[in-house]
Amino acid sequence: MHLDQEQARGRIAVFGATGSIGASTLDVIARHPSRFRASVLSAHQDVEGLIALCVRFRPDIAIIASEAHYTALRDGLAQAGLGTRPMAGSQALSDVAGSDACDTVVAAIVGAAGLGSTLAAARAGKRILLANKESIVVAGALLMRAVAESGAELLPVDSEHNAIYQCLPTPAIGAAARPGVRRVVLTASGGPFRGWRREQLANVTPEQACAHPNWRMGRKISVDSATLMNKGLEVIEAHWLFNAAPDAIEVVVHPQSIVHSLVDYVDGSTLAQLGNPDMRTALAYGLAWPERIEAGVPPLDLAAIGRLEFQPPDERAFPCLRLAREALREGPGATTVLNAANEVAVSAFLQGGLRFLGIPEVLQSTLARLHERGAGDLPSLLELDKQARRLADSLIRHEA
Ligand code: NAD
Ligand code: MG
Repeated sequence: MHLDQEQARGRIAVFGATGSIGASTLDVIARHPSRFRASVLSAHQDVEGLIALCVRFRPDIAIIASEAHYTALRDGLAQAGLGTRPMAGSQALSDVAGSDACDTVVAAIVGAAGLGSTLAAARAGKRILLANKESIVVAGALLMRAVAESGAELLPVDSEHNAIYQCLPTPAIGAAARPGVRRVVLTASGGPFRGWRREQLANVTPEQACAHPNWRMGRKISVDSATLMNKGLEVIEAHWLFNAAPDAIEVVVHPQSIVHSLVDYVDGSTLAQLGNPDMRTALAYGLAWPERIEAGVPPLDLAAIGRLEFQPPDERAFPCLRLAREALREGPGATTVLNAANEVAVSAFLQGGLRFLGIPEVLQSTLARLHERGAGDLPSLLELDKQARRLADSLIRHEA
């Protein structure tokens, strides 16, 4: 390849490359070798997985978030004969996200751990493909301000928000007003326990919670889908991305996951984006925007699907959606607390240390007990996140 062709290729940093979104992103990148190059790859602790990806994609930089794994990464890259530069630690993630090692950052780390690199990419004016919804739930105001100030291109790849983005009149993130838009409607699959009564949820296991009917995803978001917290986080995400008032964000359960979300206009029109449930569509959209490229996703066969159903969410069996709406109304600090408590509760549930129905209880108690909401700047949000984790953790221990 000639040098000018090499330089014309978009350099993509995939943060969270070893995860589910990371794999889908790399699949799309691999379909367009003349257009994109994975210049940075990162993982949390999975050195073997990261090195295997480096062998295949030959990035300039590989970052392992856990510093204890640095030596293994360095030696593994050398043994594989790769020129990839090894780095470690969360500071390295932020430094590289904001550096000229990449043009586009795919924010696909799970949890608030993704905030630093997402914010750094926003401040540096990168194109950001945002999968890491927790970062916008923790620090939505800060992130949106950084995007506005730097001129970064924030493209939502959460499938619902990507759908809404595609259906809005002027696809500009954070716009102050959207004339003619009445509300946005997020669809929810309902998860593996859709239709179950609260009483039936008492003894469900992590394996049941992670067996999502329509999507193959990481374990944390799978549990969030099972509790409907994922939709709660997405209501908060939609508020920040589209500058939508809480009352103008509706949720409807749609078991087939074919209609990815909708926008209602004041004249009675509703626009929807449809497609097979495959994250490569949203990722390809974000990578190539404003163009469209092949994503490896087969076209929709509506006749084969037959029927599309819609129903209201059951907030008695799944109270997390209501808790998220309440936190959004209360203000930014409350959503930071909500997210931190949820990360701790989900992790405890996955490790067998908390009942499924204990998850919303931990969220509610943490929100009720942590009254201090901080000043809203980054240090105070991070401190609030830490306090909420500590409190949620002690509530769970107390219960166990
Ligand atoms: P996953 O668990 O499959 O992958 C998570 C990735 O983040 C891995 O590469 C892991 O190594 C890395 N990681 C985990 N903890 C880290 C830490 N402390 N520091 C640095 N890196 C860390 O998760 P996923 O399903 O790919 O989801 C990633 C994000 O995308 C989540 O925020 C999720 O809500 C969002 N999302 C996922 C999907 C999906 O279909 N999987 C859809 C919409 C949004
Ligand atoms: Mg989603």
